[in-house]
Amino acid sequence: MAESAARYDLDRLSIATLASHSSLQILHGAKMEGFRTVAVVTRDRMWFYEQFKHLIDYFVVLDSWRDLCRGDTVRRLQTLNSVLVPHGSYVEYVGLDCAESIEVPIFGLRKLFRVEADQWAKMELLRRAGIPTPRVYRVGDDIDRLVIVKLPGAKGGRGYLLARSRDRVVERLRRYVEEGLIRSFDEVMIQEYLVGVTAYYHYFYSPILDRVEILGADVRYETNVDGLRRLPPNTATYLDPELEPSFVVVGNIPLVLRESLLPRILEYGMRFVEETKRSLPPGVIGPFCLESVIDDNMEIKVFEFSGRIVAGTNIYIYGSPYSYLYWSEPMSTGRRIAREVRLAIERGTLGKVLT
Ligand code: AMP
Repeated sequence: MAESAARYDLDRLSIATLASHSSLQILHGAKMEGFRTVAVVTRDRMWFYEQFKHLIDYFVVLDSWRDLCRGDTVRRLQTLNSVLVPHGSYVEYVGLDCAESIEVPIFGLRKLFRVEADQWAKMELLRRAGIPTPRVYRVGDDIDRLVIVKLPGAKGGRGYLLARSRDRVVERLRRYVEEGLIRSFDEVMIQEYLVGVTAYYHYFYSPILDRVEILGADVRYETNVDGLRRLPPNTATYLDPELEPSFVVVGNIPLVLRESLLPRILEYGMRFVEETKRSLPPGVIGPFCLESVIDDNMEIKVFEFSGRIVAGTNIYIYGSPYSYLYWSEPMSTGRRIAREVRLAIERGTLGKVLT
């Protein structure tokens, strides 16, 4: 794919992305860096993205996301000299096969999509990187503490449940199989439930500058686990005893961290980059996120990662306190992506940031 980009007219390169998730940020950032922009949009969302047409030079309109890999769509993206920026919804919308095989150069490491689709492979990668992670269990293992049971795919925390015993896990999962929510127990990951403060770190690995930057951090606001704590304790008795805390993200809240935590956070980001270089060469490119819980001993455990731009970066379209330290100008993750493409073009090394 990097070679196919070699046939591109670099003076007319476009930054393309699916109109969803963090696309406004990505398109805005691309414009700030002087690129043409392409929004791939489904017909029903067109009216909304037209409100931002000052950020968008070309629309590629689809009836369904699954049409992304159709020959005519791909040819149109190629004709526009497009570099496709995948975000958190990309694989979920177009499917894994299309996501990783599309014949359009991708900013980022396309090999990582398949690892990200497998919860077990993901945790294994974190462990190999030497990043502390929670204990994991398989269905049927003896459970001796509070655990969180996670369904596969980017379900945004929907259907997750908390449990303290093997029997409860098995009973609920049987129901999920009957309801068709999962096909088999093997798809489910069970993790020790970490008690502490959740913190999500936004990193950017620059193959051009060979450095890992911390571009920001956020806390996710999740219903109803966050909503429940608004209830005074004495009203809890009025709740339906069957009510489960759920973890569906509704928004993101900015976070700055104790400076004494930053060295470790950066170190974990660096370890992640090194491990992806070792096991998935050339390694991660551009934005990624480690999702963690920090406990009262200031121990950080990472329970999940994303190898793409996360929606929490939308808080910082105007830049974050951390991105300002590197760039002294408003630098969102979206703009940072475009800046990396620009630096790569200037140095004649575009192949380093595309796969
Ligand atoms: P995930 O789908 O892995 O991003 O998890 C969704 C949400 O569930 C997170 O944002 C956390 O609030 C919560 N969560 C996930 N894993 C854990 C864990 N091991 N311990 C505590 N909370 C967790």
